[in-house]
Amino acid sequence: MSKAITKLRVLGQDVGVVGDDLVGRERECFGEFRPGRCQIAIDPQLDPQQQGETLLHEVLEKLTHGLGIDLEHAGLTALSNGLYAVLRDNTEAVRRILAGERIVGSGVAGGRKNA
Ligand SMILES: [Zn+2]
Repeated sequence: MSKAITKLRVLGQDVGVVGDDLVGRERECFGEFRPGRCQIAIDPQLDPQQQGETLLHEVLEKLTHGLGIDLEHAGLTALSNGLYAVLRDNTEAVRRILAGERIVGSGVAGGRKNA
C-alpha cells in the first residue's frame, strides 16, 4: 500500500489532507474543504479513483475560495471530474509538462507545408 498524501501546496499555503469517516457518513458527501483549518477531508471508504477525483474537487474548492472565483458547485464538480480524466489519461504528457519539456516544436501556422 502506498503512503498516504498528507498535504498539498496550494496558492502558497500548506493544505492538510486527512481521511475522515464523518464526511461520508454524516454529511453525505465524498469530501470537504475546510477553509478555517486549511484542510481537505476525504472519506477514506472511497476507492482510489474516487479519492483522487474528490481530492481534485476539493483543491478546486480551495482555488475558487482563495482566488475569489464565484463558480456554481455543479460547474466546479464538472471541471474537477474533467480535469481528473485529463490527468489520468495523459500521465506521460503531464510528467513531461511538469519536467519543463518543450510542448510543441517549431511549426508552420495555417496548415501550410514546409516550402
Ligand atoms: Zn464541493
